[in-house]
Amino acid sequence: MWEFDPAPESAEPCIEKRYGLFIGGKFTAPRSKKYFDSIAPRNGEKLSEIALASAADVDAAYAAATKAFPLWSKLPGKERGKYLFRIARLLQDRAREFAVAETLDGGKPIKEARDFDLPMAAAHFFYHAGWADKLEYVSPGRSLAPLGVVGQVIPWNFPLLMLAWKIAPALATGNTVVIKPAETTSITALKFASILSDAGLPPGVVNIVTGAGETGAAVVNHPAAAKIAFTGSTEVGKIIQRALAGSGKKLTLELGGKAANIVFDDAPLDQAVEGIVNGIFFNQGHVCCAGSRLLVQESVADLVVDKLKRRMQVLRVGDPLDKNTDIGAINSAEQLAKIKELVAIGVKEGAELHQSPCKLPAKGFYFPPSLFTNVTQSHRIAREEIFGPVLSILTFRTPEEAIEKANNTAFGLSAGIWTDKGSRILKMASELKAGVVWANTYNKFDPSSPFGGYKESGFGREGGRHGLLEYANLE
Ligand code: NAP
Ligand code: MG
Repeated sequence: MWEFDPAPESAEPCIEKRYGLFIGGKFTAPRSKKYFDSIAPRNGEKLSEIALASAADVDAAYAAATKAFPLWSKLPGKERGKYLFRIARLLQDRAREFAVAETLDGGKPIKEARDFDLPMAAAHFFYHAGWADKLEYVSPGRSLAPLGVVGQVIPWNFPLLMLAWKIAPALATGNTVVIKPAETTSITALKFASILSDAGLPPGVVNIVTGAGETGAAVVNHPAAAKIAFTGSTEVGKIIQRALAGSGKKLTLELGGKAANIVFDDAPLDQAVEGIVNGIFFNQGHVCCAGSRLLVQESVADLVVDKLKRRMQVLRVGDPLDKNTDIGAINSAEQLAKIKELVAIGVKEGAELHQSPCKLPAKGFYFPPSLFTNVTQSHRIAREEIFGPVLSILTFRTPEEAIEKANNTAFGLSAGIWTDKGSRILKMASELKAGVVWANTYNKFDPSSPFGGYKESGFGREGGRHGLLEYANLE
């Protein structure tokens, strides 16, 4: 087997020892006077101290956003577009620094932060910059009016990218923003504040408040919010939907998933194996649309599983800062415990666990790439989101059975189809209850392509024209 020398990324992440809240264009100390630690999952060491925003801090953020709204919403679209272009270019300029910070704070491999998160985040700002002065073409014959102040709450799996998905369309359509990043991954959002300042964005147009669930609840329940955009777990999404019921506020929820990745016997199998690996092991499986349920046609199941096991052996698990690492660190000790618990349940319920032999670093939070065979539909590992590098494999005989099994879930975010037949792709895609269906590929994203769920995966779309409409009233 190949052995690689260490290839650590050496760029300076420029992380401050302590961060305040970004309100009204300035960093301010939290009224709560409290701070919490941000930990590097790669070694468990403290990276920085993050301000804990209280309800009074969230109030101040909404006041700043409310004050900024008249000016921002009345700016001609082409002027708003210039700010978005500037933000996109500044992100590109500082991409390497941001990629290292993202990897340190969240644990994802540097090659993913560098080649996926940063370019995609910049792409979202570029894309929406282009729309800002063309909003009359979003829904021809109608004009788009901004909503006001929008409250946004995001998760820890793609911290900067989720921020871009939220902020770019909100600003392009003339709204102002109060956003809360996830507790374990606030650093790139706070670094992003310096990009907003460098871009000369008027104070108060974007306000960043950090903290845990309580701060998120304060953002969601604030009376000044005209719309709430949430990405996170189905459990919290349900709480938010209940809290907002009857308020007349707009709401979009991007929640969990348990996607079926379906491989037919006529698929190019080696290519499918790459897609399966990408589908479940990308970002340690901390992906809402991860292909976490593999449905493989019975006649090729043994062959596919053999190929997959062989491919898993050469996945490099370890320090996410190493440029050769394929699978980095699990985002937090809590998430690692959750993954271990569900894997133990899988074993207890009778599924067969396979883990590739790999040496995990002594410090930090790590989990080996894993797959389960002999999985049935009633197993918890086939129903619940594990949100880790763990694949559950089921088999099917006919396309009808594949559809039945794929749709037999509370979620409906994404799906994958692998087959040589175009007609089968079209038939399957039209019958799968999933917001995004990939064919002969997986985990492909583009700012122009709307993303979102069915059923308990939430509602509303992000990206494309559909995403813009979530941030505006049609007039
Ligand atoms: P989470 O626990 O729901 O947290 C998401 C965000 O909500 C975090 O910022 C969290 O704060 C905050 N929060 C927690 N309790 C809250 C409350 N009562 N009111 C308002 N905000 C609250 O989810 P997670 O564990 O971070 O993220 C993983 C989940 O996100 C997975 O289920 C995944 O599928 C989903 N996800 C979905 C998409 C999509 O587009 N559909 C994309 C990415 C992730 P703290 O974390 O700081 O406590
Ligand atoms: Mg962290």
